[in-house]
Amino acid sequence: MDQVDTVVVGAGVVGLAVARALAKSGREVLILEAAGAIGTGTSSRNSEVIHAGIYYEPGSLKAGLCVRGKELLYAYCEERGVALRRCGKLIVATSEAERPSLQLIRERAAANGVHDLALLTRDEARAMEPALECVAALHSPSTGIVDSHALMLSLLGDAEQAGGLLAPHSELSEVRLGAAAGRDAMVLTMADGTELAAHHLVNAAGLEAPALARRFAGLDARHVPKPWFAKGNYFTLGGKAPFSRLIYPVPEAGGLGVHLTLDLGGQAKFGPDVQWVESADDLQVDPARGEAFYAEVRKYWPGLADGALQAGYAGMRPKISGPGEPVADFVIQGPGEHGVPGLVNLFGIESPGLTSSLAIGESVAAILC
Ligand SMILES: Cc1cc2nc3c(=O)[nH]c(=O)nc-3n(C[C@H](O)[C@H](O)[C@H](O)COP(=O)(O)OP(=O)(O)OC[C@H]3O[C@@H](n4cnc5c(N)ncnc54)[C@H](O)[C@@H]3O)c2cc1C
Repeated sequence: MDQVDTVVVGAGVVGLAVARALAKSGREVLILEAAGAIGTGTSSRNSEVIHAGIYYEPGSLKAGLCVRGKELLYAYCEERGVALRRCGKLIVATSEAERPSLQLIRERAAANGVHDLALLTRDEARAMEPALECVAALHSPSTGIVDSHALMLSLLGDAEQAGGLLAPHSELSEVRLGAAAGRDAMVLTMADGTELAAHHLVNAAGLEAPALARRFAGLDARHVPKPWFAKGNYFTLGGKAPFSRLIYPVPEAGGLGVHLTLDLGGQAKFGPDVQWVESADDLQVDPARGEAFYAEVRKYWPGLADGALQAGYAGMRPKISGPGEPVADFVIQGPGEHGVPGLVNLFGIESPGLTSSLAIGESVAAILC
């Protein structure tokens, strides 16, 4: 049986950032990826926004890792030449009733260590974005966008340079841990039946992480959360957007509202909305959902023309809390939580997981190294 020191399951942005951090700390790292290439899961179906760390519960992992991850990400991308743009974003109140929300958002951001938000009058906001309609806005200058594929390639390059190895087409089926393995290592069984021994295992399988962890013999099932899937549909704008910053309404229950994001080519998209679904594979966009987007977008962009939106793509949020429940924090579960030496599970790494990826890598390395 082949033996390796550390296995990271999943070559999304989080698995790659973890593999990079572990390899740079001197561990021998093998990355197992079920698909034929890196970043084909949620990491290629998101908004590519570098979030500032504004909305999350103060003291939560999401807040701390987003703010830390944002700093690391800007520095890393600038050093490595990974394309990004600090375009900034405006959070807009479109009615007097929404105005107090802006102050609450600003206070929460400050509690998270984000002190650069500026409250703007309608005229100040419209001087920045003339097509915008609002009664007031918050400007976040440290929000940006990043080329997530270039980022993932760079992370993989770093991991490989530090001796790490990527194994595509390598789906992990089950694991025997500790006593269940009957030896001083974990035994991993791949989908093709081959076996591999390892001393450390990081479960960064994204949407599949809870289902995979249920197949870890030796891990108490009460440590594995129930997975929920919330699809986020995007609709793209035909033609050029009249905005140079990201535009967000004040958040609504369950999501950030139908907002406008830009990619590095200047193409605008609206979304993601929130659609609870049964299966992680349900990634078709129903064009009929676009109807609801027009009314929402026109609250802050009355100039949106009929027929301008086209069904785009969808991403799936790897939720560990269900509809109507309080939104769960990221879970980074090490031996201190589940009692299994050498094992780290990552559950519920939804947004801002891309922004937080380098900080999550740091955290996992701190547990295992
Ligand atoms: C609609 C949407 C918008 C988002 N927008 C943003 C944003 O703008 N900014 C931001 O910071 N975050 C955003 N996020 C969150 C971000 O995209 C995720 O947190 C991040 O991509 C998760 O990366 P990951 O590596 O954990 O998972 P994934 O990218 O899903 O990678 C998991 C990998 O594991 C592999 N895998 C699964 N099971 C196995 C197995 N048994 N064996 C081997 N391999 C396996 C899969 O093939 C996959 O490649 C968004 C998320 C969604 C859904």
